[in-house]
Amino acid sequence: MSLMWTVKVLGLGVVALSLSVELLSRLLHRLRPGGPLNEALFFPSELACVEHIFTSLSPRSCLCPLPHGVETSFSRLLRRILSATSSLDLCVFAFSNMGLSRAVLALHSRGVTVRVLTDKDYTAIPGSQIGVLRKAGICVRCDASPVHMHHKFAVVDGRLLITGSLNWTLAAVQSNMENVLVTEEPDLVRPYVKEFLRLWERNDPGQMPPHE
Ligand SMILES: [Zn+2]
Repeated sequence: MSLMWTVKVLGLGVVALSLSVELLSRLLHRLRPGGPLNEALFFPSELACVEHIFTSLSPRSCLCPLPHGVETSFSRLLRRILSATSSLDLCVFAFSNMGLSRAVLALHSRGVTVRVLTDKDYTAIPGSQIGVLRKAGICVRCDASPVHMHHKFAVVDGRLLITGSLNWTLAAVQSNMENVLVTEEPDLVRPYVKEFLRLWERNDPGQMPPHE
């Protein structure tokens, strides 16, 4: 066989292999009972204690005055965030919610790689948790473009997308009408992973390219 043929056959083999890996991973996803995770959350969330989500305490042993043992949109959101085992990429305009900050700090102290991209104008506002996250050693980048970095999405372990209208503030969780979509659909997760990386690299303080 000529060298050119060998190269062609090898090339076809590589294409076939990568296609079958892609097909297999799609198939495995479909075979999961119930398919990929999809969940819609609406806010404002009912007010309920979330202490048991952070600690191994039984909800009954908490003495705070809030209702206990109640699953709410907020508790579901916290559980999804805390399900991270390797990475959390967060792209959020406003971040002042203490419960969400506690979740991000907990992930960081568990060794999960956390990257936070936020809007430069919001970071210095009173109550912003960005300084707290930075002090804890979490890598934060501020978008320096002249327009708002108005996204509100997070990607957990590169596989689970959390996105919607919800800023990570107390008002958004407890007062506003907001929506959040949680999904593991690879066709939706993939572009968000890509967009996060694009914005993350664009705001690398080491090599800030000029913004048009
Ligand atoms: Zn409680």
